[in-house]
Amino acid sequence: MARRKKIYEGKAKTLYEGPEPGTIVQYFKDDATAFNAEKKDVIEGKGVLNNLLSEYFMLGLANIGVPTHFLRRLNMREQLVRSCEIIPLEVIVRNFAAGSMSKRLGIEEGTQLPRPIVEYCYKDDKLGDPLVTEEHIAAFGWATQQDMDDILSLALRVNDFLSGVMYGAGIKLIDFKIEIGRVYEGDFQRLVVADEISPDSCRLWDIETGEKLDKDVFRRDLGSLTDAYTEVARRLGVLPKGATPIKPTLIN
Ligand code: C5P
Repeated sequence: MARRKKIYEGKAKTLYEGPEPGTIVQYFKDDATAFNAEKKDVIEGKGVLNNLLSEYFMLGLANIGVPTHFLRRLNMREQLVRSCEIIPLEVIVRNFAAGSMSKRLGIEEGTQLPRPIVEYCYKDDKLGDPLVTEEHIAAFGWATQQDMDDILSLALRVNDFLSGVMYGAGIKLIDFKIEIGRVYEGDFQRLVVADEISPDSCRLWDIETGEKLDKDVFRRDLGSLTDAYTEVARRLGVLPKGATPIKPTLIN
């Protein structure tokens, strides 16, 4: 049997050439990293949960007319996506102060922001993904002004969608990160939400108790990461109510 071609191996996912031109298979690994990979572990079942959750969010976005790279889920760990040119920016939207913003500006975690704040970081592991301004983005040609207008609009639509979905599940969306890709249709380019949307890339707090249900559980050693992600998946109906935390088998 021919071996499929690996295109890229990231910290949490591996990308393979897809079955048709212009497609890619995204394989979700169980690897967890934090602090620019200074902290590492393998968390059984995380990849399965993120695959299912990312599918759920991407399909929901498509249903309200937000374009994404998602085509279909292939199995418990893999999904087929459109291949796109990733803009080298991490687009972060914050509704409440937390994490690096709290540190940078001395604002207590959990403080509601006067309005959603969108930040951009330059995607470069060696540099630790530094915060950049639109001036840097334009000057270095990472994105055009038109791209930036479209990215802002996409980011805010994703924020409205995710905040609402989470609120319905008793979860406060503190902040999240998305990545944006360019796809070409004939002579035209379109921007789409790419990569993944999962508790790895969001901060999610229980509305009542403030319990953390996201990757901070791993970053800050707060307990079981799979239990937290399973709870999010259960509340969203992605896993049946009585489901036990995901344990991978040979086929997933
Ligand atoms: O660390 P910071 O507070 O800037 O993170 C903001 C949001 O972006 C968090 O939800 C975090 O999980 C996400 N993020 C990410 N990947 C990064 C940096 C941040 O998903 N490389």
